[in-house]
Amino acid sequence: MTALMQADVVVVGGGPAGLAAAVALGRSRRSVVVVDAGQPRNAPAAGAHNLLGQEGVPPLELLARGRAEAAAYGVRIVTGQTTGASGALGEFTIDVDHGATHVLARRVVLATGLVDDLPIVPGVEQAWGRGVLHCPFCHGWEVRDQRIAVLGRNENALHQVLPFRQLSDDVTLFLHDAPEPTDEQWEQLAALRVRVVTPRVERLVVDGAQVRAVEIEGGQAFETDAVVVAPRFVARTAVFEALGGEPTSTPFGVQIAADPRGTTAVPGVWVAGNAGDLMAMVVASAASGVMVGAAVHGDLALADLAQAVRVRREPC
Ligand SMILES: Cc1cc2nc3c(=O)[nH]c(=O)nc-3n(C[C@H](O)[C@H](O)[C@H](O)COP(=O)(O)OP(=O)(O)OC[C@H]3O[C@@H](n4cnc5c(N)ncnc54)[C@H](O)[C@@H]3O)c2cc1C
Repeated sequence: MTALMQADVVVVGGGPAGLAAAVALGRSRRSVVVVDAGQPRNAPAAGAHNLLGQEGVPPLELLARGRAEAAAYGVRIVTGQTTGASGALGEFTIDVDHGATHVLARRVVLATGLVDDLPIVPGVEQAWGRGVLHCPFCHGWEVRDQRIAVLGRNENALHQVLPFRQLSDDVTLFLHDAPEPTDEQWEQLAALRVRVVTPRVERLVVDGAQVRAVEIEGGQAFETDAVVVAPRFVARTAVFEALGGEPTSTPFGVQIAADPRGTTAVPGVWVAGNAGDLMAMVVASAASGVMVGAAVHGDLALADLAQAVRVRREPC
């Protein structure tokens, strides 16, 4: 049997962006349902950093606090996957877990986050978020002064090297899929005292989520403590597409295009967090959630006003 829920706003995705939007809306006495599959992007990490006032908080603990805060303002949270979406402005239907629940809502906030498309090298996925990292701001401090290997993926390899060279004197660039450096780049790498290894990487030698070494074609192994990779960032766009939206390609991946207040090209549908901004960290994602929550509330307030005037004008 299908459970039916009704709300002013359905928020798809209960990470930092979705929960922040839900809190902003709940505090304005909007009825809100959050549908969340419970797979936030930073789940593998031990702690979330650059989070003022909550530095290093475990990611799942942060979201548990966020859910409790949202619930305190009457937000209903459904654990499940949005598996379908239909309708238009004022009358959307969100399907959860293939018909287990239907949420009817006037507006939709997409806070579905993104998937990190990782280089296909054995060991990368196993150690992702611990010994294998991508973001110097998220976990660079934790690997300072360690032996850091950068796994090149494209022409941006030198840009991956720079922030980590600031954190450690022991950085090796494995070109792997990156193009041969130009003469100028060879000089820059030499000036930074960054070793360059040109044969392709065969695998990472891992122990649980810790990296022990990088092994190249031919079997030579280079001991290392951390490996930096460049994921391709692919926003989860299935719900947006079901509602008629088209994803946008960028040099870094795929996202949902929106204006600075999160308004998408589909009337009644907003986007917050990584789904609309591939570079947004936790605070920026939560901030965009608050902005979107405020924007959706304003939009609903204008719709409610128009409706009130219509009712007042109707002859008794
Ligand atoms: C390994 C790693 C470590 C990181 N560390 C840091 C850090 O230290 N500091 C920092 O600021 N940033 C960090 N980040 C970035 C951080 O993860 C993102 O900024 C943040 O998660 C974005 O929040 P979000 O709400 O947009 O998406 P997410 O946190 O990914 O949340 C999206 C939620 O939506 C749900 N969802 C998706 N599709 C559906 C659907 N169809 N139906 C229902 N639910 C759905 C997902 O299951 C998930 O729960 C890190 C990223 C990675 C990969």
